[in-house]
Amino acid sequence: MKNIYLNIFPFNKKILGKIVILLKKNKIIGLPTETVYGLAGNAYSKSSINKIYKLKKRPKYNPLIIHYFDLNRALKDIEINSNFKKIYKKFGPGPITYILKRKINSKIVSNASANLKTIAVRFPKHKNLRSILKKLNFPLAMPSANISSKVSPVKATDVYDEFKDKLKIIIDGGKSKIGIESTVIDLTRDPKLLRPGIISHLKIQKILKEKIKTNLKISKINSPGLQKKHYSPGIPVLINQKKPVKNSAFIYLGNKYTNRKNFFSLSKKSNLKEAASNLYMLFRKIKKMGFKKIQIQKIPKRGPGLAINDRIKKAAYN
Ligand code: AMP
Ligand code: MG
Repeated sequence: MKNIYLNIFPFNKKILGKIVILLKKNKIIGLPTETVYGLAGNAYSKSSINKIYKLKKRPKYNPLIIHYFDLNRALKDIEINSNFKKIYKKFGPGPITYILKRKINSKIVSNASANLKTIAVRFPKHKNLRSILKKLNFPLAMPSANISSKVSPVKATDVYDEFKDKLKIIIDGGKSKIGIESTVIDLTRDPKLLRPGIISHLKIQKILKEKIKTNLKISKINSPGLQKKHYSPGIPVLINQKKPVKNSAFIYLGNKYTNRKNFFSLSKKSNLKEAASNLYMLFRKIKKMGFKKIQIQKIPKRGPGLAINDRIKKAAYN
């Protein structure tokens, strides 16, 4: 099929050069990561950060995650501690974000982290993104590439649907492998899970050999951006559903209803990791098909199911 999107490009050496030039000029680019697609800008530039907030219509109190090529570069901006070292050794680079103390002489633009004394840092694993980060002498602030409170994008065309031609370049990295946002853990105090993700708190507990707090009734201070309503597909979402109702799309696990037009399986094998990776894709697909409502069957609260439940509960909030 002909590429009808003039700002979507496959990743190659030539486009890498262009991206580096644009990011150095404080422009914003749409990039794939292993979690979801992101809106990337120079984290050391006030003008880049302002552009990201403006494009996303994101409230200024909701801080951004800063993405680094490696730990060595991050050490200029953040203080690390023993808990961080243990988790990083096992999971970094990967789909986990650490809240750490900001160094006094950190160059991260203060309003990128909502003027807090902490910074959210991530070391992404995605190959294209890593080759971009490697070429830069600054880290990338990169929230998900969607308008604030909406569903995160998992394909380059999803990013296009959100921002149209406002972005000069969107890199097509195929469907995001993980498909939901990173786990967020606060390590500035007794470890506390702020956002569940594919790396579960149980896995982290195993490494730290201590219990981590998972009380997700987040106070304003410890994670300013965790609003109750989020990940909204733009039509009502109902959770823990048993039976489909008129005009609604029914999301479930398994392969029981494969021949029914309004039934959508998150994973035919009922695999929760696969289910997480398909959730946002189905939200967008169902909305585009014109359904008026999304009903979701009860999803088990184990492993990746914890992260799925977190997202669908927020998507259902009204
Ligand atoms: P997003 O970029 O939209 O996937 O979300 C980033 C998440 O990280 C938001 O929920 C923020 O509240 C959280 N976050 C970012 N920076 C900090 C920070 N310094 N302290 C606590 N939470 C943070
Ligand atoms: Mg987001």
